[in-house]
Amino acid sequence: KAAHPRAGDLSFPTVRLEGCTQCKRCTVECPFGAIDEDEKRFPLFNESRCRRCGTCMGACPVRVISFENYSVNTVGSQIKAVEVPDEFSEKPRILILACENDAYPALDMAAMNRHEYDPFVRVIPIRCLGSVNTIWITDALNGGYDGVMLMGCKHGEEYQCHFVKGSELGRYRLSKVGDTLKGMNLETERVMDLEVAISDIATLPQKINDYAALIKSFPPSPFKGF
Ligand code: SF4
Ligand code: SF4
Repeated sequence: KAAHPRAGDLSFPTVRLEGCTQCKRCTVECPFGAIDEDEKRFPLFNESRCRRCGTCMGACPVRVISFENYSVNTVGSQIKAVEVPDEFSEKPRILILACENDAYPALDMAAMNRHEYDPFVRVIPIRCLGSVNTIWITDALNGGYDGVMLMGCKHGEEYQCHFVKGSELGRYRLSKVGDTLKGMNLETERVMDLEVAISDIATLPQKINDYAALIKSFPPSPFKGF
């Protein structure tokens, strides 16, 4: 029924109505105009238009939108499940949230072609940069990760985003994270956004290594061990 069925999770977004503030952020950001209103003015997902990109989930400020197998909590649990070395072990921990459409397969192919990248990196696939809820980034930093890199498709006029505006909307959201970092007394460069195409197989490892070198030039995150 969906215009772009995904392997693995064929569910549509749902909203926990009791938590919804009716702010309409999800409706405004949906790249496919797939969110209508029910008679009580709550979001109503039009399943024939929805392409399951998750942009509504990333946009919701109170985090009440989820899919059966993809939610703020499922990715949040993956982020928390990664072991973060303590401040005395001199090992950084870097999180990469990689778009599953281009960036993640490019990383996969880089590995198959034996291109190595920094061993302190841990990669979690995401549906689209548009689905990134900024709580993942603040939770990761609060949990002691030294840096967070986000990988998504090119946006703008020559966009390569599989969901048209997903990566652009995600990047707009990310542009606000700098203030959060300053509030946490962290260097703003600790969060980096990288445009990745599926053809970047050979160059991607070096970009990761450059970013890892930058992170290693900073002191360990002061949030380790909390
Ligand atoms: S933002 Fe994406 S997942 Fe959400 S309703 Fe629109 S098309 Fe569906
Ligand atoms: S963004 Fe979240 S809180 Fe706002 S209307 Fe949509 S579901 Fe409700």
